[in-house]
Amino acid sequence: MITFENVSKVYSNGTLALDHVDLQVDKGEFVFIVGSSGAGKSTFLKMIVCEEKPNEGRVIVNDTDVTALRRGQIPYLRREMGIVFQDFRLIDNMNVYDNIAFAMHVVGASAREIRKRVPYMLGLVGLQDKAKCRPGELSGGEQQRVGLARALINNPAIIIADEPTGNVDPALSFEIVDLLSEINRRGTTILMVTHEHSLVKHFHRRVVEIRNGKIVADTGKVEVQE
Ligand code: ADP
Ligand code: ADP
Repeated sequence: MITFENVSKVYSNGTLALDHVDLQVDKGEFVFIVGSSGAGKSTFLKMIVCEEKPNEGRVIVNDTDVTALRRGQIPYLRREMGIVFQDFRLIDNMNVYDNIAFAMHVVGASAREIRKRVPYMLGLVGLQDKAKCRPGELSGGEQQRVGLARALINNPAIIIADEPTGNVDPALSFEIVDLLSEINRRGTTILMVTHEHSLVKHFHRRVVEIRNGKIVADTGKVEVQE
């Protein structure tokens, strides 16, 4: 589903952020990407969503060499992924329902589909009572659940999450990863950057550790025990 082949990234200021990275992630895996600050984790995710291009190597997502995509093709790639941000990135002046509905609207869903699917997704993340609230009226954990609902609304094959629990308290962190696990059980591939050891220990998933732009540890594929 995702393959890195000999991928290196040097930023324009000369920083080597990824150093000959090889990695394969199969459909349906749940992978934690760990490593200290500055290790190259965000750069790694940016290669997948095509926010940055490597200087060397190839990144294949869903059989597409994303490093060869033209700018105009990138939005089509992103439709196959749901992206969850540490800082939520919700639209402040839209209520919860509209934040999620908007993500369907931009990919051309009909009003009928939107009316059907948004309430289902609000139920899945447990926010049916908060549909009319603005993001500013919600707790951090609730805002992140809106972020998750938005990432999931178009049924992506892959979820990319860059420290999705970075701005919520520890109890809620587990809740967020529980939700991601539930989504993973339904077949969605998940890559999640985190620096929370407690989460990594608790959830027993594949762990890939990046240090100085290199993969220095990889548990490999982990079979999930139900
Ligand atoms: P992490 O997500 O693990 O904290 P990053 O991928 O953000 O690491 O950064 C890896 C390295 O690349 C760091 O040394 C960082 O300072 C550098 N870096 C990240 N983004 C840029 C950029 N846009 N320009 C120059 N250097 C960058
Ligand atoms: P151990 O002593 O068994 O390595 P750790 O607490 O160091 O235990 O690591 C537990 C798991 O977390 C390991 O699978 C390790 O690869 C992973 N890990 C390593 N570095 C980090 C990190 N910065 N953040 C989160 N997890 C990490």
